[in-house]
Amino acid sequence: MARLIGIDLGTTNSCAAVMDGGKSVIIPSETGARTTPSVVAILKDGSRLVGEPARRQAVLHPARTIHSIKREMGGGRRIRIDGRSYSPPEISAMILSKLKADAENYLGEPVTDAVITVPAYFTDSQRQATRDAGTIAGLHVVRIVNEPTAAALAYGVDREQAQKVMVYDLGGGTFDVSVLDIRDGVIEVLATAGNNRLGGDDFDHAVADHLAAQFKAETRLDPHKDPTAWSRLMEAAEQAKIELSSVREAHISLPFLMQKRGTPCHLDMTLTREQFDRLTRPLVEATLGPARQAMDDARVTPGEIGKVLLVGGSTRIPAVQEAVTAVTGKEPYKGINPDECVAIGASLQAGVLAGSVQGLLLLDVTPLTLGIETMGGVFSPIIRRNTTIPVQKTAVYTTAANFQTSVEIKVFQGERQMTRGNKLLGNFRLNGIARAPRGVPQIEVTFAIDASGIVHVSARDQATGRAQEITITASGNLPQEEIDRAVADARAYAGEDRERRRQAAARDAAEAVLYRAQASGRKSLSREEKKRLDEAEKRLRRALKGRDPAEMEQAAEKLSQLCAK
Ligand code: AMP
Repeated sequence: MARLIGIDLGTTNSCAAVMDGGKSVIIPSETGARTTPSVVAILKDGSRLVGEPARRQAVLHPARTIHSIKREMGGGRRIRIDGRSYSPPEISAMILSKLKADAENYLGEPVTDAVITVPAYFTDSQRQATRDAGTIAGLHVVRIVNEPTAAALAYGVDREQAQKVMVYDLGGGTFDVSVLDIRDGVIEVLATAGNNRLGGDDFDHAVADHLAAQFKAETRLDPHKDPTAWSRLMEAAEQAKIELSSVREAHISLPFLMQKRGTPCHLDMTLTREQFDRLTRPLVEATLGPARQAMDDARVTPGEIGKVLLVGGSTRIPAVQEAVTAVTGKEPYKGINPDECVAIGASLQAGVLAGSVQGLLLLDVTPLTLGIETMGGVFSPIIRRNTTIPVQKTAVYTTAANFQTSVEIKVFQGERQMTRGNKLLGNFRLNGIARAPRGVPQIEVTFAIDASGIVHVSARDQATGRAQEITITASGNLPQEEIDRAVADARAYAGEDRERRRQAAARDAAEAVLYRAQASGRKSLSREEKKRLDEAEKRLRRALKGRDPAEMEQAAEKLSQLCAK
């Protein structure tokens, strides 16, 4: 399979990672940046800018610049520029195309497949829109993964003991908090809450407002009224905010910010961490309600939370970390860059799908139906696709021939009704079945899929207790590609399969009737009755040589009626 990359398609910033030599590596842009602003600009001459160049020119061409397109995904709003209208997936595709090009540049090979993350609360249509964006960008979206799940993978908590984990994600423009249940490597999102209009930008705003008020008090000039001055102020505010995450004081200097009757006015101020915390306290507090809500919805108390993971650049703010510690009673887990961990998790999932990462459990549902082959090549499903794992199911089968003492169990995976169209995963023989006429032995076939997606199949003869089993590894994690193909195939071939299946069933039933007819005594019958029975038998044999299930069914019905008399 081609190289798969993991993409965190964010509201404010996006990030891509790839497995390289068994490790997840962030893919840098052509300028060496590790994240790409999710900003697109469509210029007058029709050219497009994506990422940092688009962000830089935003103040000059606000009407031509598109921010936070992720908020529109799955909705009907279109973006109109120069009389052309763009759907949200088209805009997102421009960002994905840039990430794809950067990845190709970095890897020196074409990139065609990706795992993309989405917020846990994304609906089907939002997920589908994300998939469409990938398709438009020339990327086959092999799997869509929930962002908190990706974060959990990046931190490796899926490999630890069973526990509940909180993922607190405060990015540039959105906030969400999820409670996950992690057990035997299966990650389940129990609850999610948040506010998709709250993020780091609001912190910048609070600081810029404060600086503007100071500047106005000194100069009587209002930077809010001058777009260029305001944009410079917002940029300086973000810079100061970032500095205050590691130092206690930030210096803000904006020479020639505005002019007063031809005289330049400069902004020169100092902001302390305490001032910053005071200005932004309401924003930090606004995240705590959803955090409590998510715990309530997941029915867990703070004491039951095993770990707290931080995601999103804004979780570097010390006051945010302190508030999270206060509400959960736990120091957040640190170690992975909060704005890279979702992309890292996506690349780990990509590695699992491509087969380069082992020992990581991700399957939470079976991607395809599993079952065995029965008479005439008919597929008998035992565990249906999309069943949550771990799971165990048993079905009872019997023999097809008289006095058969062994059966071959062929395990298949797929959506077709006939095994011919499905994938053979393995087979084994169960010997020592008690001698009995066909249809009498009771053979239990049990399928079990454990949390790692490993399939165990066993067969047991109820009469003798003889059993046999096999373990099929690596049958889970099928690439979505293959899953989609199987599902599409199944649709396309459904009619043909139905016919073959009916034929096999009719043949099976007809053979059983023939066997019963031969086994029943005819001594008490009149010559006329015997003759009729012989004719019906002959007709059924003829039908069995052909392929018409209706003919087999009618002939079997006739013979069966005569036998019953
Ligand atoms: P994300 O959407 O996860 O990329 O987060 C972007 C947000 O994180 C922006 O608002 C950034 O200003 C903010 N951010 C990045 N680094 C820091 C930092 N060291 N301290 C505070 N905020 C930061």
